Amino acid sequence: MQHADTLNKLYVEITTVCNLDCTMCERRTWNEPFKHMSLAMFSNLMRQIQQLPTLPIIHLGGYGEPMAHPDFLEIVKLAKASGAIVEMTTNGILLNNDIAEVLINLDIDRIVVSIDGVTPDTYNDIRVHGNYRQVIENFRRLRRLKFRKKNRHSNPHVGIAFVAMKRNVADIQKLPWLAIYIGASDIQISNVVPHYPEMESEILYERSLLSTAYRASRWVPNMSLPKFDIGEHTQEPLREVFDSIVSLNWFNTDLSQANDYCRFAHEGYAAIRQDGEISPCLSLLHDHPVYLLGRRKNITHYALGNINQEPLGEVWESSEFTAYRAMLREFPYSPCTTCGGCERFPANFEDCNHNVFPTCGGCVWAQGFVQCP
Ligand code: SF4
Ligand code: SF4
Ligand code: SF4
Repeated sequence: MQHADTLNKLYVEITTVCNLDCTMCERRTWNEPFKHMSLAMFSNLMRQIQQLPTLPIIHLGGYGEPMAHPDFLEIVKLAKASGAIVEMTTNGILLNNDIAEVLINLDIDRIVVSIDGVTPDTYNDIRVHGNYRQVIENFRRLRRLKFRKKNRHSNPHVGIAFVAMKRNVADIQKLPWLAIYIGASDIQISNVVPHYPEMESEILYERSLLSTAYRASRWVPNMSLPKFDIGEHTQEPLREVFDSIVSLNWFNTDLSQANDYCRFAHEGYAAIRQDGEISPCLSLLHDHPVYLLGRRKNITHYALGNINQEPLGEVWESSEFTAYRAMLREFPYSPCTTCGGCERFPANFEDCNHNVFPTCGGCVWAQGFVQCP
């Protein structure tokens, strides 16, 4: 792992405009208008990045479709000209032949495509206004163009991001095939963040929110598991073990490591909103609700500065941001994802451990349920 107080990766939300309207999308809950970051603002950000001691990975992504930005290709060009590694997350619908050619020529390092179904029915049910066959064809063509112009191991590397819910989890078994078919080298599965009550019934971690399997504690025994075939003999016993009062260690990995771990703070990540706000993570970029254990929690946006007023490097190194990251690594927050709830639960303003805004105890990202590319 890299040193935590270096800015290693920067998510840049170049737009909140999108050509789709996915069922689980946080944007459905917003009151704010959808907007693009101006090209001038992005150029300014690239100048600020070059003043940092080391160049962070630039990941074009947030809540919106990067290719819906009218200056998308110019933005990739500027990002690559900075010398940084450049990645993006896309729904892939707009990746036509011309854009694919330019992206290969610009040598973009990595493209992650969000695909939440491996059949047209499952995919189209979630990705409203999407088109499964179009996305697959777009990535097949990207693969062909890349092979023709370069080779299979050259840029752009392709990844798949899949948001798992009850309605689509059966499709994860087809993801290895899909990855080979479109030339993807990695697959990342995340859980869904339930932004409205109906989505809460779709989550695949209801029991895991409370399970001791993922919580090392001196009050429960620890069980260490070896490699196993997952099959008729092991499936049911393993399920019972996961649901019993024991904490688990699998292949020498303590499963409780994913608790109280803010990847953004530990691994040196930050996020820039389309209007230049500098946030510590993607979750705090916009006001939004989350439903947990049948209750609504309103997450209020938190920023430590704005690139239009202060250079990113100064904000990253400010005492406020440095102290906040140090605190996140200690994670002294109340366990709101497992608790019965109290009058402080509905907001991220304070918790019962005397922490004040923004409290992170109810964060599903820091409890290992949600991950981002
Ligand atoms: S593609 Fe992404 S930003 Fe667009 S609606 Fe779907 S989840 Fe939201
Ligand atoms: S714990 Fe969660 S809400 Fe807090 S900074 Fe990390 S990712 Fe963001
Ligand atoms: S602040 Fe404390 S009491 Fe209230 S929901 Fe969180 S953990 Fe429970």
